[in-house]
Amino acid sequence: MKKIKIIFISLAIIIINCQFIYGSQAQNPYTEKIVCPILTYHDVRLDSSYTNDWTVSAEKFENDIKQLTENGYTPIFTKELVDAFNGKCELPEKPVIIQFDDGYQSFFNIVYPILYKYNVKAEVYIITDYTKDIPYVNNADTFLSWPQLKIMSDSGLVYIGLHGKTHKAVIGSEFTKEKLQNDFTAAWNEIETHLGPQPHYYVYPNGLFNNETLKSLSDSGAQMQFIWVWNLSRNVKNYNILPRANIDKNQDIISSIEYFNNALKIKIK
Ligand SMILES: [Zn+2]
Repeated sequence: MKKIKIIFISLAIIIINCQFIYGSQAQNPYTEKIVCPILTYHDVRLDSSYTNDWTVSAEKFENDIKQLTENGYTPIFTKELVDAFNGKCELPEKPVIIQFDDGYQSFFNIVYPILYKYNVKAEVYIITDYTKDIPYVNNADTFLSWPQLKIMSDSGLVYIGLHGKTHKAVIGSEFTKEKLQNDFTAAWNEIETHLGPQPHYYVYPNGLFNNETLKSLSDSGAQMQFIWVWNLSRNVKNYNILPRANIDKNQDIISSIEYFNNALKIKIK
């Protein structure tokens, strides 16, 4: 009984430590020794004949997850990586972060059951103007609803982050500092109204950013901003940024990790 108590208290301490919020130092892979591949999917289809650069088949995705687990990789949340940067958490030996952009309906119908089956974590970055009480249809795409997001968030297997209030690239003249900050705040308020408090992680629509957006979003409370790995050569080191790579539909996930790790060697400015 005493042993069980000690284990319980140790677990509680670890969990409390993982709750700490980040330090004031900018965190990016060039100021940290921890390397964690971050890989991005978009849409998934059951019909394997329908694929494009941004869509993979359900069969490929499940196979990727199988390969990850068979090769000793453990999918983690960005929050765990940030906590590890701050010495608050130990990471598994081979951590990896799996992300999905846009919040397509396929994440609930296809991806989530596979995550559940293999007990692995993933993150989905949503567009709040496309997120409603029932799945919202825009052009040919259907987007996740708040109740679906709540179920997945509550499962502990899915983190829900922000991919913009809209899906417009935020570097045009209409995106003044004030508009960027207002949109960011409004979007996060909506997410937290439906899902409760979350770490504020942000993926740029279309991957487009500049130094003004990095600063404005950082000032607005973005705790992490994700950019494509090849953009690390730009002047980004003063901000909390992490690089990611798109999963190549023609490559298995282990090859995609190798691609990410090689791309990460780009020298930062
Ligand atoms: Zn997108």
